[in-house]
Amino acid sequence: MAQLTIQNLHKSFASTTAVDSVNLHVEDGELICLLGPSGSGKSTILRMIGGFEHPTSGAILIDGEDVTRLPPERRPTGMMFQSHALWSHMTVFGNIAFGLKLRRLPKAEIRDKVESALELVGLGGYGTRMTSQLSGGQQQRVALARSLVLEPKILLLDEPFASLDQHLRERLREEVRDIQQRLGITTLFVTHGQDEALAMADRIAVLRDGRIEQIAPADVIYREPQTEFVAGFIGTMN
Ligand code: ADP
Ligand code: MG
Repeated sequence: MAQLTIQNLHKSFASTTAVDSVNLHVEDGELICLLGPSGSGKSTILRMIGGFEHPTSGAILIDGEDVTRLPPERRPTGMMFQSHALWSHMTVFGNIAFGLKLRRLPKAEIRDKVESALELVGLGGYGTRMTSQLSGGQQQRVALARSLVLEPKILLLDEPFASLDQHLRERLREEVRDIQQRLGITTLFVTHGQDEALAMADRIAVLRDGRIEQIAPADVIYREPQTEFVAGFIGTMN
């Protein structure tokens, strides 16, 4: 379990301000959805927390430790992207074990950890399959197992189900919420789908042009939007 604190985070690319004065505190075990239109800075915030992008200014603290300048592999974060980017020439086991092998864990321990991660995502016994033989939903489950197997303190999910059909997306978001609550893992979940955010989040942060426009529990965002932008954005849900 871990707390995440973001202090006055900025990111500019040439003349574009992608992230503008973002402050955010995420409690132990909380799931926050970053919700906003395309280009509002959601991915850039996540990538900075994961260490894949350097902030122009500001700080990122995990359990009070400043990780702003640490490389991704030295941060206690696990990140899953929209495109799962599994290695298709490897088995499911190989994909999930990769990070554990880099850490030079003993073989038996790697086997145990990979199998528990697979069971957690409902793919027990799938280790010897090639990832190219799996369905889209199964591949996203493998990607999730790969981010969980390193036992991150903070889980970062960037529109993980965007490429899947509606039915599968709804199922997977329930599974992720269930796993997240069982592990008690502090999570940031990026989506541009209002229904997804309302269904999953402890709190929703609505983003606009790199700023947090409102942050509140889902029902408060829904009933008491603070700005017209938030009202309009949530209102587009049917
Ligand atoms: P979102 O995930 O909400 O769609 P992004 O964080 O991807 O938004 O992008 C926020 C803004 O930053 C956009 O205007 C985007 O074009 C810009 N941006 C993101 N990454 C880069 C980059 N590597 N180089 C230049 N501009 C970028
Ligand atoms: Mg994005």
